[in-house]
Amino acid sequence: MSVSVTFLGTGGSVPSKFRNLPSVLLRRGPELLLFDCGEGTQRQFLQAKAGTNRKMRIFISHLHGDHVFGLPGLLHSLSFMGRTRELEIIGPKGIAQFVTSVNRVVKLYSEFPIRIKEVGAGRVINDEEYEVRVAPAKHGVPCLAFAFQEKPKPGRFDPAKARKLGIPEGPLWKKLQMSESIMVGRRLVSSRLVVGPPRPGVKITYAVDTRPCEAVVRLAAGSDLLIHDSCFDDSASLKAREYGHSTATEAAQVAKKSKSRKLALFHISAMYEDATPLLAQARKSFPTTILTQDMATVSVAP
Ligand SMILES: [Zn+2]
Ligand SMILES: [Zn+2]
Repeated sequence: MSVSVTFLGTGGSVPSKFRNLPSVLLRRGPELLLFDCGEGTQRQFLQAKAGTNRKMRIFISHLHGDHVFGLPGLLHSLSFMGRTRELEIIGPKGIAQFVTSVNRVVKLYSEFPIRIKEVGAGRVINDEEYEVRVAPAKHGVPCLAFAFQEKPKPGRFDPAKARKLGIPEGPLWKKLQMSESIMVGRRLVSSRLVVGPPRPGVKITYAVDTRPCEAVVRLAAGSDLLIHDSCFDDSASLKAREYGHSTATEAAQVAKKSKSRKLALFHISAMYEDATPLLAQARKSFPTTILTQDMATVSVAP
């Protein structure tokens, strides 16, 4: 199943002419996982042609306005756009109160059921084919970093080898594909003879807003894509420290330490009209870095 990430908004704190507020759309086949929902996300979501009635989960990192002010609007509009399926919101303590308070004062037009789950560190989603883990980020307020990880897929079945071993096509092939050993006549055939090793799934880590920290390094271990706070460039490192953010170089160090394969610089301060210096700084210690742009999509493979 293909996995891709569309950066709906890549700025931070306040929007700029070039960057919307933070939101990342992860698409896995027909399913949607949305990370954060800054103001203006609903329009970007529409533009991304994400589909309004798919299985969907929204993950909120923390309760700073730039990450949640888009949520009431999106919930309100999804109903107008025909959503009927349940939607799950996962976030830190307080997220339920935020949604219900808005709903009490400004009645949200939401015809579909909403399930809100307040979570701490650990495994927060355990689906048949993937899981989502949480670790505490290091910010001024409680903030969650998320790691999406597909479970390993069964190894590839080799039909030529199966034929060579005299195994007739049909239910026996199916059993071997499911890693079961079978009897052919009086011979026991192990699935390992015709099925390759399990194939790893995709891992994507989303860590904003945060100082570089060990908990995120551990969470992100071996990510195919690490989306990390990169609010500032090196010259503003004191500001990064003061406001609980990271510089591009610090993001690169987290990518390196966690042995991630690719780093996406994200949550770029509105003070950078041209953020390419951040990219250059990060690439010095982590060459496979990209600078996120609003509405850009990257496909992610293990
Ligand atoms: Zn922020
Ligand atoms: Zn914040």
